[in-house]
Amino acid sequence: MAATILDGNKIRDEIQSELLQQIIELKRAGITPGLAAVLVGENPASQIYVRSKVKTCEALGLYSEKIERSKDSTTGELLELVNDLNRNDAIDGILVQLPLPPQVDTKRVLMAVDPAKDVDGFHPVNVGNLVAGRTGFVPCTPAGILEILKRSKIPLKGARAVVIGRSDIVGKPVAMLLLHEHCTVTICHSRTRDLPGVAREGDILVAAMGKPAFVTADFIKPGATVIDVGINRLTTEEEVRKIFHDPIGPLATLQKRGSVLVGDVQPEDARAIAGAFTPVPGGVGPLTIVMLMSNTIQAARMRRTVVSG
Ligand code: NDP
Repeated sequence: MAATILDGNKIRDEIQSELLQQIIELKRAGITPGLAAVLVGENPASQIYVRSKVKTCEALGLYSEKIERSKDSTTGELLELVNDLNRNDAIDGILVQLPLPPQVDTKRVLMAVDPAKDVDGFHPVNVGNLVAGRTGFVPCTPAGILEILKRSKIPLKGARAVVIGRSDIVGKPVAMLLLHEHCTVTICHSRTRDLPGVAREGDILVAAMGKPAFVTADFIKPGATVIDVGINRLTTEEEVRKIFHDPIGPLATLQKRGSVLVGDVQPEDARAIAGAFTPVPGGVGPLTIVMLMSNTIQAARMRRTVVSG
């Protein structure tokens, strides 16, 4: 039987309509949650991400500011900007779009964000809160993955979860969230021995490595839930033919759009072997921005302490 597709767009829409209710409540109390998105330089992917974050704010009726700085910005200039935003009462959430240019000390800039406005959940205070299971901001992609699992009623308690990837942005926080849900968690990385064998132990398998279709049939336990975090763009026919068993559909997409998106999981293998899986596109991706909105609303509630919940 083909695996169930976990539809990220549908779950995103569900969450978005819940958030709209919360925004209406906050506005009744005179509060409009505000997000500042800081974009440094001209990285095209960053420009697209920031644009869609600001657009989502507008669609939900949140206040947003897009702040652009030149690629030659110094660490000092960005620290000053972050400090101004920390003091700005209209701003509840500060997002510094990564990557920053090489001359900038990224860690120092992220550390400067007030933890109460750190809606990306990257500040060490929020990392500590996550590890300790205390209230704080959880990074958006891992938070979105948990929403997908919970809203799809995937059993978590006692399940074996295998996470491939140990980044601060995805791998480590998602592992911590799964641990808090009482999964037995294994974190894998580039030095893991017998990666397919370890991955095959997972009732839940999270692939967050940034390697196109690396996770193939031999990594997947039959019936497992596979969460594919990777976003990789294929731009040549050769790449498409190498990855897809049946390349006809993807080749048509390549011809039409000039590229094909693929995750870290071979999608035909996931469909054949897994019990459920997130597609790319349309799986984890749509959740990331809506969780940023959710964190911004949470920041407004916590910082302005008017509405409970
Ligand atoms: P990083 O590059 O920061 O981390 C990749 C991790 O994968 C590292 O821990 C690395 O191990 C591990 N890894 C790399 N190659 C292998 C291998 N051959 N075998 C085992 N482990 C390996 O990536 P991110 O965590 O930032 O992102 C991962 C993917 O998720 C990317 O494709 C990214 O585009 C995507 N992403 C998607 C988002 C969404 O909204 N859907 C949001 C954020 C990211 P080691 O530590 O040993 O080097």
